[in-house]
Amino acid sequence: MNSGYSLIDEITKKLDGATYDNDKIESSLAAVGESLRLSYIAVKEVVSEYRVLCCTYEWSSDGKNELLNTEARFTEDVWDQWLNGYENQNVNRVWEWDIGNGVPCPLKLIRHDKVASVLHMQMYKNECFVGCVDFVDDKPGRVWTDEERQGLLTFRDLLCDYITRFHKKINEIPSDIISSAYDHTTKLPRYEYFCMQVEDSFKELERAQLVILSLDFTNFKFINEKYGHEEGDIFLKNVAKDIYGFTKYVICCCRSHSDNFLLVCKCDKTYTKAHLLNRIEEISRNYVKKLSEKYFDCNLCVNVGVHVIRSNMENIEHAISNANLARKYAKQRKHEYGHSCLTYDPAMAFELKRRAEYISDMKKGIESGEFFLEYQPIVCTDNMEIIGAEALIRWKKDNFNRLMPDDFIPIFERDGCIVKMDYYVYDQVFRFVTERLESGKNIVPVSVNVSIVHFYDNKLIPYIDELLEKYKVKPELIYFEIDERIAVTKLENVAKVMHELQERGFRVYIDNFGSGYSALNTFTKFHPNGIKIGRSLMKTDLDKNDKIIIKCVVNMGNKLNLEVVAEGVENEEQRQFLIKSSCEYMQGNLFARPMQQDGFEKLLDM
Ligand code: C2E
Ligand code: MG
Repeated sequence: MNSGYSLIDEITKKLDGATYDNDKIESSLAAVGESLRLSYIAVKEVVSEYRVLCCTYEWSSDGKNELLNTEARFTEDVWDQWLNGYENQNVNRVWEWDIGNGVPCPLKLIRHDKVASVLHMQMYKNECFVGCVDFVDDKPGRVWTDEERQGLLTFRDLLCDYITRFHKKINEIPSDIISSAYDHTTKLPRYEYFCMQVEDSFKELERAQLVILSLDFTNFKFINEKYGHEEGDIFLKNVAKDIYGFTKYVICCCRSHSDNFLLVCKCDKTYTKAHLLNRIEEISRNYVKKLSEKYFDCNLCVNVGVHVIRSNMENIEHAISNANLARKYAKQRKHEYGHSCLTYDPAMAFELKRRAEYISDMKKGIESGEFFLEYQPIVCTDNMEIIGAEALIRWKKDNFNRLMPDDFIPIFERDGCIVKMDYYVYDQVFRFVTERLESGKNIVPVSVNVSIVHFYDNKLIPYIDELLEKYKVKPELIYFEIDERIAVTKLENVAKVMHELQERGFRVYIDNFGSGYSALNTFTKFHPNGIKIGRSLMKTDLDKNDKIIIKCVVNMGNKLNLEVVAEGVENEEQRQFLIKSSCEYMQGNLFARPMQQDGFEKLLDM
């Protein structure tokens, strides 16, 4: 070292005490840093068995402490590489990196972009990796002399000895404490511990712009359902592993629950919030692409909510809840905005409030008759004779706004209260059919929709039995339309419920076939009576490919002895094509739009 071995002697004496003293380490770092005219020194210690290093001591020539107490988590491969040695790592477990020699730095030196040269020395105690110390020069062209290297090695050994003498190592910490701080599945910090880390970052990064990201996945549940919970866990582990690779500005992260991850990133003048948002948007797109190669039939999407912290006075939990809110908003409105990443805006809270209001108003709406049914006839394609009808729900909310199913069904499905609404529909339809029958009027089978949510509980069949008892309806006059999404779920009871409905004499259709989730094994798993070809396939101008697909679906249905109904038929060309394709039944505006009960009754009475 420049000032010779007297500095080492001085440090040896300093770190020789019988008691532990932070100041001694700090002043030693400062002495070394100043003597070698370094820019920065960081001591990072292993804080858990989970590939996490915490920056426990820091010195910098400009007096700024940027990383102190922050944790960096490393991916398994980087960690292994690290422990097993890099190509240019020598026997003393020293790894040297220089910006000029092109070797990428894997150390997550997230302090700033100016780092030019690093001497990274690992610390081992009883053959166990306990941490590292990084000596950094921000000025390019640093040549570390042998004397400097030797001096720094001695310093590292002294430091390692001193720290490990007094610090409790992770394997000495009771495992219940570790498991209470870290999530068992992803090995990321738990929410509470994460909040503490963010609080710490707040203190240390006074002027920095911290950004909280809340991230989750649309349709994660399909991975659990389709591939099983073990695969779901693997998915979450991989996400946790990938998160730190998203951008080097991720400071810490946690899994708060289910598939929801919270990240804290650090922006500054050169790496602004706009950079970060663009990067996240790009990452999300690429990430979804990568995931969909593996889970190709789950239709996964990434949703990210962002909250930018602007003041040191901001409350962490509040900031996190804003990021969560922005994520929920991004998830619900993605099809309108086309972005998977949205920044919190107070208006989002109003919108989500409206949704919450829909849910809480549903019950009242049912009681006060705000929900009503329209019936859309199903006819024979060739002679347009009415052979059935589909009951479709509408909501005259507060007896003022007429809302269509797409406005409220996704909200009710997410909440689960769709089940109650469907029960109401079934009650109305059973009553309508029975009343017409009992008064000797003409009636055709009426189809009702069954939300996928019914398969999460086992109450549908008991409820239908109650209705059968109440109305003594003829089961052959009721058809149940089950959305094709059931084909991609792991739900085991679908086939059973279908079978139980059929046993009672009802007919069961797969609805919306071909709209996105259709799988051919639908027909080996389930034995429906018919299929409804989704209206998304029935475009106004059918091109060659559309026609081939529809023809094949109709053909398959006919060969499997299924009744095939084409939905969304709007013009005569479509009808003629369906006739040519031997599609026996159709439903759509060409024959009639959905109509109120009295209109439908008039049609039946003609
Ligand atoms: P769905 O089961 O596929 O119902 C057919 C939808 O296609 C209806 O939309 C109907 O109005 C529309 N439609 C029929 N013919 C045409 C046409 O020629 N052109 C166009 N553009 N549209 C046509 P609606 O009433 O808005 O319902 C949307 C979806 O909401 C339904 O799709 C169904 O999945 C769901 N839904 C409706 N009522 C209920 C219900 O009581 N319970 C449940 N769980 N879902 C329901
Ligand atoms: Mg339907």
